[in-house]
Amino acid sequence: MTYAAYLPFDRDDLLERLEQTLSPHRYQHVLNVEKAAIQLAEAYGQDPIKAGLAGLLHDYAKEKPDSYFQQLIQERNLDPDLLQWGNNLWHGYLGIYAIQEELGLENPEILEAIRVHTIGKAEMSPLDMILYVADYIEEGRNFPGVEEARRIAFSSLEGGVAYETAETLSFLAKKRIPIYPQTLETYNAYRHFLER
Ligand code: GDP
Ligand code: FE
Ligand code: FE
Repeated sequence: MTYAAYLPFDRDDLLERLEQTLSPHRYQHVLNVEKAAIQLAEAYGQDPIKAGLAGLLHDYAKEKPDSYFQQLIQERNLDPDLLQWGNNLWHGYLGIYAIQEELGLENPEILEAIRVHTIGKAEMSPLDMILYVADYIEEGRNFPGVEEARRIAFSSLEGGVAYETAETLSFLAKKRIPIYPQTLETYNAYRHFLER
């Protein structure tokens, strides 16, 4: 796999940088998401290079401190409502700033897939869906329901998005965790694809 079309350095250099930036656990996770995203892209006739790179980079900003994102919101005059949320939203939604600045990635489709990888959105591109689903089904995941999620993901990408969003919503509500409105938009847009 070569990412030379999208990055000013090759995959080996990127892996070295990711290994220095991320904890061993998260480094393994992004390698697994790269692999799952490539498999999904191949299954659905999408570009495996863009999918793989999105997978490798999607959690690049996950281990940045809250202060990094709080400062970013202020400096860039972003919606102050973002301050109410936390790393779960920020690492993707705002992580794309770090990926652009620190790694030089400019491709808008890859950046958008990373931006919405946690919460989705109403009208997702195939690449958006591939990353959203790959993150959930990668081989290191072992929560109850993951086998079902894997089966659905390779039967329909929209179905995979719908299943994952419904499961995530129930999980968050059960734990009394606040739900970001865009997650609900994703659910409302994709719930028709749920198997019944
Ligand atoms: P990860 O970065 O590989 O752990 O996976 P994600 O980026 O998909 O999700 C990060 C965390 O955000 C997970 O714990 C999700 O359950 C959580 N999450 C997803 N949607 C929402 C939401 O609407 N609100 C909140 N508060 N958390 C969410
Ligand atoms: Fe993430
Ligand atoms: Fe992830």
